[in-house]
Amino acid sequence: MYGGEAARIPQREPTFRRMIREEARAFADRYIAPRTVEFEESRRVPRELIRALADSGYLAGPRKAVGAAGISMSEFGVLNEELARASASVQSLVTVHTMATFGIAQGGEGIHDELVRCLVRGDKIAAFALTEPGAGSDASAVATVAVKSGDGYVLNGEKCWVTYGQLADVYLVIAKVAGASAAFVVPRACDGVIVGPSPPLSALRASMQAHIRLVDVVVPAKSLVGRVGLGVSHIAGSALMHGRYCVAWASVGIAQLALEASANHATARLQAATRLSDHQLVRRLLTEAYADVETARLMCERAGRAHDTADPRAADDTLLAKYVASRAAVRVAEAARQILGARGFIEGSDVERCCRDARALEVVEGPTEVLQDLIGARVAGKYAH
Ligand SMILES: Cc1cc2nc3c(=O)[nH]c(=O)nc-3n(C[C@H](O)[C@H](O)[C@H](O)COP(=O)(O)OP(=O)(O)OC[C@H]3O[C@@H](n4cnc5c(N)ncnc54)[C@H](O)[C@@H]3O)c2cc1C
Repeated sequence: MYGGEAARIPQREPTFRRMIREEARAFADRYIAPRTVEFEESRRVPRELIRALADSGYLAGPRKAVGAAGISMSEFGVLNEELARASASVQSLVTVHTMATFGIAQGGEGIHDELVRCLVRGDKIAAFALTEPGAGSDASAVATVAVKSGDGYVLNGEKCWVTYGQLADVYLVIAKVAGASAAFVVPRACDGVIVGPSPPLSALRASMQAHIRLVDVVVPAKSLVGRVGLGVSHIAGSALMHGRYCVAWASVGIAQLALEASANHATARLQAATRLSDHQLVRRLLTEAYADVETARLMCERAGRAHDTADPRAADDTLLAKYVASRAAVRVAEAARQILGARGFIEGSDVERCCRDARALEVVEGPTEVLQDLIGARVAGKYAH
């Protein structure tokens, strides 16, 4: 794991760390929220915003992943919540960039230290390329192959839905070497890396998904991250766990925004001289949404604490947090749409975007049913006599 000196990473005063929510909220209110619709419509996030995220240290990830200079996992979670409250598309850059950085850092042995430092500073952007047309939830079905050739490897294959793949400088690519899974650092500039936009998605519209073809891409041996055989189990596995943590907190951010929109509208809107918020059934919707948001945030906080204290339950708590929070966000967003009536369907409005984005978070980093499979198996093992 990378633990070296992190040159030029923005350093934080201790009091500043405690203020991460206020700081991230101020950043999001200033640089993101006023332009969220513009980003969605143009289906891209501008470079200057990415630079601002990097200069604020938001692309550095938590210190658990990248060494002593980062913030705690708990603080990192709050950062993700606040960014997603303004734009889940923008927040998803933090997810995939830090996932890829974490995955590359897991390779150890110092080979990728310079690249990791670069990624931590946000001087380069990384994306995570696991999914293929024939391999989604089942990562073991990856068909991209890497063949040993001289001092390096030759990669061939196809990757899809790579978030921020359209602008990334480098990809963490999961492939197979003689049938065993392996992870490789593949610079976008390599000959044979052909990057195009994915079919436009209705959710996370500004997150610049790419379809990537690798045609006889030659990389040096040091591009291998860790060892052959560890690609899915260790490198992608660690990255996905990190990604689930980010997505869980992003779900809380979306749900929080939808809850605020619901409360604002229910309080302001009069029908037949009665405020919507004076109807008991509307209050029930608000109560359930509030309970969902608070429960999801508590689950995320518990996972953050487990990571920060190296508690062995961190992985299980993260799975559960992602499961609970992503489902909660869908319910809260749909409740908001119900409370807003026709206004909840205005294209590009906060609530309409929340409904779309929340649904996507139930699919990424492990669809709900896959998480049910994993969590259910653990529950059976834990409580069976
Ligand atoms: C917005 C967005 C961003 C993405 N970004 C990235 C990225 O950056 N990098 C990347 O590599 N990929 C990315 N993906 C791909 C994402 O990881 C896959 O969509 C996800 O793994 C599911 O794979 P799939 O779409 O092929 O669906 P499938 O694997 O075909 O599954 C479809 C559905 O079948 C059900 N299902 C599947 N397996 C099981 C099971 N074992 N038990 C029960 N039910 C099951 C689930 O309901 C699932 O939703 C992204 C996807 C989206 C939507």
